[in-house]
Amino acid sequence: VDTFNTFKAPQPRNMIENSMFEEEPDVVDLAKESPSYPIDTDDVVYEPRSSRLLVRGLGENDLDEDEEDYESSARLLGMSFMNRSSNQRSAASSYIRQHYSGSCSMPSTKTMVVGVVVLVLVASMLMVLYFLLGCNFTTAGCQKTNSTMDSIYPNSTNGELFPWADLRLPCSVHPVHYNITLHPDLTIMTFQGSVSILVQVLNETKNIVLHSSDMNIIKATFDGKEVHFLEYKPWQQIAFKFPEDLKKGQYVLNITYTANLSSSYDGFYNSSYVDTNGIKRVLAATQFEPLAARKAFPCFDEPAFKSTFTIKMTRESKYISLSNMPKVITTDLKNGLEEDEFEKSVNMSTYLVAFIVADFISVSKNVSKTKVSVYAVPDKKEQVQYALDTACKLLEFYNSFFKNEYPLSKLDLVAIPDFLAGAMENWGLITFRETTLLVGSNSSAIDKQLVTSVIAHELAHQWFGNLVTMQWWNDLWLNEGFATYMQYISIESVFPGLDIDTEFLNVRFKALAKDALNSSHPVSTVVSTPEQVEEMFDSVSYEKGASILLMLNATLTDGEFQKGVTQYLQKYKLSNTKSENLWNSLSQVSKQNLSVSEMMNTWTVHKGFPLVTVKRSGTQVTLTQEHFLLNAENSTDDSSLWHIPLTYVSDKCSVLSSCKQVFHLKEKTATLKLPDQVKWLKFNVRSDGFYIVHYDEEGWKDLIGALKEDMNVLSCKDRAALINNIFALSRSGKVSFRQVLNLMDYIRNENETAPVTEALFQLGQIYRLLDKRSELDLASRMTSYIEDHFGSLMENQSWDLETSVSKMTLRSALLEMACSLNIRNFCVVIDSWIPSDLMRTVFKVAAQTDEGWGKLLDMYKHSINDPEKHKTLEALASTQDVWKIIWILQKSLDGSEIQTQEFPLVINTICKSFAGYLYAWDFVKENWDKITQKFSVGSFAIQSIIMSATSQFSTKTHLVEAQNFFSSLGTKGSQMRIVQEAIETIKLNMRWMENNLNTLQSWL
Ligand SMILES: [Zn+2]
Repeated sequence: VDTFNTFKAPQPRNMIENSMFEEEPDVVDLAKESPSYPIDTDDVVYEPRSSRLLVRGLGENDLDEDEEDYESSARLLGMSFMNRSSNQRSAASSYIRQHYSGSCSMPSTKTMVVGVVVLVLVASMLMVLYFLLGCNFTTAGCQKTNSTMDSIYPNSTNGELFPWADLRLPCSVHPVHYNITLHPDLTIMTFQGSVSILVQVLNETKNIVLHSSDMNIIKATFDGKEVHFLEYKPWQQIAFKFPEDLKKGQYVLNITYTANLSSSYDGFYNSSYVDTNGIKRVLAATQFEPLAARKAFPCFDEPAFKSTFTIKMTRESKYISLSNMPKVITTDLKNGLEEDEFEKSVNMSTYLVAFIVADFISVSKNVSKTKVSVYAVPDKKEQVQYALDTACKLLEFYNSFFKNEYPLSKLDLVAIPDFLAGAMENWGLITFRETTLLVGSNSSAIDKQLVTSVIAHELAHQWFGNLVTMQWWNDLWLNEGFATYMQYISIESVFPGLDIDTEFLNVRFKALAKDALNSSHPVSTVVSTPEQVEEMFDSVSYEKGASILLMLNATLTDGEFQKGVTQYLQKYKLSNTKSENLWNSLSQVSKQNLSVSEMMNTWTVHKGFPLVTVKRSGTQVTLTQEHFLLNAENSTDDSSLWHIPLTYVSDKCSVLSSCKQVFHLKEKTATLKLPDQVKWLKFNVRSDGFYIVHYDEEGWKDLIGALKEDMNVLSCKDRAALINNIFALSRSGKVSFRQVLNLMDYIRNENETAPVTEALFQLGQIYRLLDKRSELDLASRMTSYIEDHFGSLMENQSWDLETSVSKMTLRSALLEMACSLNIRNFCVVIDSWIPSDLMRTVFKVAAQTDEGWGKLLDMYKHSINDPEKHKTLEALASTQDVWKIIWILQKSLDGSEIQTQEFPLVINTICKSFAGYLYAWDFVKENWDKITQKFSVGSFAIQSIIMSATSQFSTKTHLVEAQNFFSSLGTKGSQMRIVQEAIETIKLNMRWMENNLNTLQSWL
């Protein structure tokens, strides 16, 4: 499942919001002084006749006749943006910086004492919980002791003792084949089902235990004879008890049942949309990963219980039905009903089963032996072609990269109108949000980058995840880290123009920020409860997973990675694996005798990542590693050591890829002897490794000096990484903020996307914290600082049609920053045509007036163009008007005028603004029950909602309030890891403020 692209808009790192330093550059409050916002027709600089677009301060742009044809969204809005008159220009010259040589960040004794007390309390609570939960629910060891004591078995629904006491199913019985027959009724939103499971008894047993949830079982038979069953609802299990041991062999278990089509986003759920004629249309679709197949049919719902499936679906003749496999036959059942039967599937896990009943249309094309089709609602048939072409090209790429052809004869990609995740990789039937699959005529290259990324990710899953599956959810990263990494590899090769490399760099920065928290977790983590399984779908599994694979690939020599992966897929296809299996396949092909397993285990078993400190004295370089934590005072384990494939370049040779040197650091400390004297050293070349680097004072000085002299001695990724690393070091208290500003001095010359967006992102974070604390003076000094350092680059941006993704990303970051801080007269213009990559910026400005907001709402309701709709919604939610904020919160939760799938995005956008963030927090608290009915506890949506609502708190009052609220949740969420992360983030914000408010006064 692809959760990470869900909330993505075309900016770095806005896919998820989960730490205080994890928001995009464009998120700074939009126009707090909204009345001064420039939507005043008198000020329009517009030449009516010629479709000429004149942007003050940005130069003139001529539009062709063709471009005039673009039905301009701005014109629909009838809005106009103009330049701010020069008297509103903020005084750039008032920017003052004083040098100050204090140091920062030593925690006060009081903080330390409180910290220790809290730590001890938390640790003892955790231990109590561990022992309580551990023995009842989880480990194999506990389960053995328990099984001898009848008393620990829970009571089933009818009061009888349930014969099993573990969340994981017993291994004695395996499914071999499922025959599933379903008949959904889209009028009354229920379905009838029957499942016949051929099971193999491997060890003699008196019980068969499997999963089933939210269904009404009418009858069960075992080898033809009716049998009685027991249900234990909390674990979503049912059991069949037999008086005698079942002998080894095969049996048939038959269950007929009815259930409601789910009204949340998992299981077999109903969905609806309104077509362009205003008529409501309904459909039914599935989302099973991770634990919801059991809501559609009783099954052994764990990834290792692979089996084959034959599915039959009854539907009204006006609909079509789709499933994983091609349709074999349709039978007319009379009464307007038809039954579709699908081919028997390959051996696969239950979470990959899927079916849909809807009235979609499709287009198709063949690639090798596979028919690729893209489905969407009939109104959007113009928007499917890009996805079809892209999917075909990527399928060809993967077929040849993995040297193992996609095994099914069809591959469907379906855009579902109401869908929570970004997409889901069901084998042969990939489901998407409309925004992540459909591309219209006015979608920008950045919209295409998103669609391409999601398709590339889901297609990679057809091998990683579907063909070879992790044994259990603890190794979810084997699916998600790999699919994420392959998405970058394939796009770089097939669509080099999409500048996916910069995007991947941002993803690594984001993963580092999250993994620097104490509340992070190892890539491979023990999980058992449903909430824990849900929580694995996070940045660590996806983004850190992908980052460590990149590091490994960069360490292996040419082609070895691909070779090892191919062998792994060949060896384990149609079965299940653990991390170790992958490492062994890669070790076997490594010519440098690298023990991949020894190296990579240090990256999957420890949480966090290392900080490498470099001290150079002549040609002697001392390297030290330690666990990097933003909040080191609460650190619980300091002894972790990583096997780090350190890379470095120096002034002798730094830009060519052949310049890179490698040194394997496995110990705490090691010494590197350089062959010659150097002027400077830069470690972690292009930031390919998952670690950050700190230099001694001289080391930083040399690097900063080199950048000021000629920044091109380092690649733009290396420059972005220096910026990223120094902000992180300052946050952890290892360098002073003055040192950060020293490095940033060179940025006036910078014009590359990666370093500029990283710098804006970091400064924007600080601005927003200041702003939310109402530190008005400092916030305005920060604005001046940004204007002083980026003003001329902002001035150089055009509003023309732009084709380079990299330039688009750069200009949207700059212009959004300019508009939101109201810097100079950049936030200008526009009547007539807007390049689609700038729509978001323009719409956000427009949304600040009643008139603009009303028109945007109208556009939102009527647009059938999804990227545009998405941008419109973000603009609507960026309003500063509290009544509108409340309205939009209510409508997106109840799903009436804004789809509920957008609720996390709405919360996230509202929380960026000063006007809305406290309302959003109150709304989340008051509506928690409703929210958790829509989104499961622990899910990515819930993680996003919690972090959006709390990540900008930086006061004691808010800390206490958040703690009280979360602890009041009990089983409805107080145990979630994201809660610890939220609390830790607030504490970090508080500490940062404590340490830096005074110093900012002197330095900014
Ligand atoms: Zn995925």
